[in-house]
Amino acid sequence: MYNVIILSVLFLFSAHNVWAKMFDYNMERANLLAEESDLQVGGNLRLTDEENRANEILMHYKNEEVDESFHNPKHFNFSRHYFAYKNDIGNSKVYQIIRRMPKGAALHVHSSLMLSADRLLELTYEDHLYVCSADDNLKLHFSYSVPQRPCPFKWQLLSELRNSTENLQAFDDKLKSHFTMYSDDEKDYTGDINYVWKRFNKVAETINDLIAYRPAREKFFYEALREFYNDKVMYIEVRSGLKILYELNGTEYDRMYLPRLYHRVAKRFKEDYPDFIGIKLIVSKYRATGINQVLDTINIARRIKEELPDVFAGFDLVGQEDLGKPLLDFLPILSEAKKDMNFYFHGGETNWFGTVSDENLVDAILLGSKRIGHGYALIKHPSLMAAVRNRDIAIEVNVVSNVVLSLVCDVRNHPLATYLALGMPLVLSSDDPGAWGADPLSTDYYIAFVGVASKKADLRMLKQLVINSIRYSALDNKGKFDMIRQLHRQWNAFVRDIIRIFG
Ligand SMILES: [Zn+2]
Repeated sequence: MYNVIILSVLFLFSAHNVWAKMFDYNMERANLLAEESDLQVGGNLRLTDEENRANEILMHYKNEEVDESFHNPKHFNFSRHYFAYKNDIGNSKVYQIIRRMPKGAALHVHSSLMLSADRLLELTYEDHLYVCSADDNLKLHFSYSVPQRPCPFKWQLLSELRNSTENLQAFDDKLKSHFTMYSDDEKDYTGDINYVWKRFNKVAETINDLIAYRPAREKFFYEALREFYNDKVMYIEVRSGLKILYELNGTEYDRMYLPRLYHRVAKRFKEDYPDFIGIKLIVSKYRATGINQVLDTINIARRIKEELPDVFAGFDLVGQEDLGKPLLDFLPILSEAKKDMNFYFHGGETNWFGTVSDENLVDAILLGSKRIGHGYALIKHPSLMAAVRNRDIAIEVNVVSNVVLSLVCDVRNHPLATYLALGMPLVLSSDDPGAWGADPLSTDYYIAFVGVASKKADLRMLKQLVINSIRYSALDNKGKFDMIRQLHRQWNAFVRDIIRIFG
């Protein structure tokens, strides 16, 4: 009997011990997870009761989507190329919620690739458009008479070709295919990075041909602003290479004309849509060009800064980093320009670790870049990551662009997952949404939220990213304050909408 009692006590004692150990373990486990949760982007935000209700609805749909893919990985869209599932995105409830979300600012967008192929096609219905089509290459030129530019075949009036076609839909579809990289044929988008960039540059060239005509550019930019506005983007920092525009009679404008046009059109747009905040311009130059051409563009940037100080944001070098020149090649002129203007350099849009293009990140940081475009390779550089964090340099992440331009396929492997988890200074943008048929910003937010971020990342992360887009913009303090105030109103309406429509 005595032994039984001792055994029972020993059993209870050890059960208590096991239980206590489990308790300690679970506590430690929960603390570690909580620590990580606090660290991530948005981790410190506290939601209101109403936001919490909306968050529950949002997370219900997000969990449903992620769980379905977790149990059936073959259904997981985001492990495939964006073009393979682009047309299914609209069915997602999370996407539908994100479409309605006020997104603040888009800070990494290239001007000539902002507009969808459908709207570009409409511009081809303008009068006096000539086309030169040969070997799947398309040149476009507006003119009163046959253009003088060389054409390997012959210039023809597009309106005449269109009127004589028996199948208008097929004619327009074919024309539209020159304005987008989107294709439902896998072999069109699975080539190596140089092949894909070649296709990208070809699309950009055709679009630039179409919008070099001054009236077409005005309509283009107004429509682009409207597409961004309809996607709940209230302010845009547009990168532009300041192409030369012309009139029907052949008159050409100088490179100062385009910034004035942007300013004028944005002003008109704001009159039509008063809650639109506006645009700023980041003057950009192709990094594959020579020092003198870059210097010329920097000098034009100086003039724009003087003439349109409210529009001018800064300067950048653009184009495929692996094939272009590194920032280091332009160090003397960039060091000089740094005294007059802010930089917003592309950096680390590469998979080639330790190469000159990879090291653009070092020079972007040392030259005082206010933000870094892409920063895709930053994750491989612990000291640079620390520098970016300490100097509060925001990384402009463009997930869909990185998929289309062959840096990553399965977005779960995108470094953004780590940047979000570490609470790095971050903004989401879309780079060239028109070129691949993405929304101005919603597609990137949706894929980042469901495909890249933690399953547990919630409305707080989305809200923080939207706040970041204003915080890291080139607006002055008053501009940021006014925009945050407006965002606050729009955000509250959005939260009520989630509960009303999706609850
Ligand atoms: Zn870019």
